[in-house]
This record gives sequence, structure tokens and C-alpha cells, in this order.
Amino acid sequence: MEISSSILLPDFLPYLLGIFGLLVLWQYYQIQTMKGRILAIDIFDRSGIRMYVYVVADDRQACEVCRTAHATVFPPSEVMTRQFSPIKGTCNTPARCIGFLVGLYGAWPEAERIVTRLQSSRKREPIQLSQDELGEMVLGPWERSISANTDRLGIYILEAVLGDCSNPTIAMDKYLHTLEHAKEVRHMPLLVPTYLRLVDLMIGQERTVEALQLIEQFEKRYRDRTPRPYAPTEKQISLMKNKKSHLKNATRPAEPLPAA
Ligand SMILES: [Zn+2]
Repeated sequence: MEISSSILLPDFLPYLLGIFGLLVLWQYYQIQTMKGRILAIDIFDRSGIRMYVYVVADDRQACEVCRTAHATVFPPSEVMTRQFSPIKGTCNTPARCIGFLVGLYGAWPEAERIVTRLQSSRKREPIQLSQDELGEMVLGPWERSISANTDRLGIYILEAVLGDCSNPTIAMDKYLHTLEHAKEVRHMPLLVPTYLRLVDLMIGQERTVEALQLIEQFEKRYRDRTPRPYAPTEKQISLMKNKKSHLKNATRPAEPLPAA
């Protein structure tokens, strides 16, 4: 009688090994979470945001408080706290300072480096980017990364904010695209500043009719005054109202001079 020297492995062994592997991985995450190495926020943050970048439109014209906050990167855990504010102090010129809080996953190398820096700071403190670092990240190959779709509108906004003084026409298209395509929760904080900035740029370009239409769209969108996250503040609503009446006065045909 011949005895086979090889050991026969059951067919289901690979599956068993797979399940075992998953159990080990799950246990590993559980231990790491308990040790505090992985913050619960990383696991529960389903919105796909790993960092928030705060940028101020035309930051050279902004007040000192807002200018200092330009290009700060915040961890999601900080943004989610009730008392969070991207600026330290009170803005001195709310009519002039327009800030955007842009949430990103950031899977391309330039962004990944910033995420790593943010996550490796022990207390998860915000980090300040230079204008060059911010520019490098925005110009990086984000469209080829796995987060391209998640980050698209965020990048459009960053591109628009960084270039809207030197090239307002291109920036305006990007702001308009954002207003049209912002459907997800992570895009909601972008809407009010986009309206404010776009109206300013349109006025600057003497596109008065479009500016008026945009203000009307803004008023219609936020007509319902029930408090909700990312709705415009009273200040922002009255700011738009003022712009509207200025524009209406400007477009009104001049009254004929009284006969002498
Ligand atoms: Zn300000």
C-alpha cells in the first residue's frame, strides 16, 4: 500500500486564512484605538475628510486677524468641536474678508505630506502653510489620485481663491461650477463664501445683471431662516441686501434733468 508523502490541504483553507487575517487586523485596530494611537475620529469620519484648509480671498486686503489665519490646516477633530473658529479673534472688516474652509482627503503626494504632518503632531494642532506650500499642493497631480472625485470641488475653490485677483474670469467659472455642483454635506460650508466672493468679482467686472441674479439666487436659497449649519449669518444677509440695492441704483436709468 502506497502512502502519499504530500499532505493534502482542504479547499477551504485559503478562506479560513483570510478570515483569520481579518480577525488579526481587527484586533490590531482595536488595540491601537484603545492605546489612543488611532483617534476614533479617523474611523468614524465617513465624510472622507482628513484635513481642512482655511483660505481667505484676496488675503492682502483682509484684516490682520483673517490674514494670519490664511493657509492654516486644521485636523477634522478640531473642526468638529462646537467652539471651533478658523480665525483667532474677531474679524475687523467682515464686509471685506471672505474665508473658505475647504475639507480634503488629499491622496496625492503634496497633500499626503501635509496630512502626515498634521497626523504626526502629537496634540493634533493646526499647521500653518506658506503660500508656496499651499500653491504646490493645489498644483499637484490631484486629478490622478484616488481622491480626485472627493476633492474636486475643494480644489476648484482653492484654485479660484488663489487666482481670483490675477485671473478673475477663470476663477469665476470655478466658483459658478461649485455653486452648481455642491450637493454633498462636505461642500455646504463653501456655498456662502462662494456667493459673497463671486458677487464681488462680478461687480468688479461690471457684470451687474449677473451679480443681481446671483444675489437673488442666494436670497432664495436661504429664504428659510431656520437656523442650520452653514447658513449665512445676519451680517452676511444684510451685506448682500446692501450690495443688491447699490446695484439696483446703479442700473436704474438716470432721471431726466428738470427743464430750466
Ligand atoms: Zn477679517
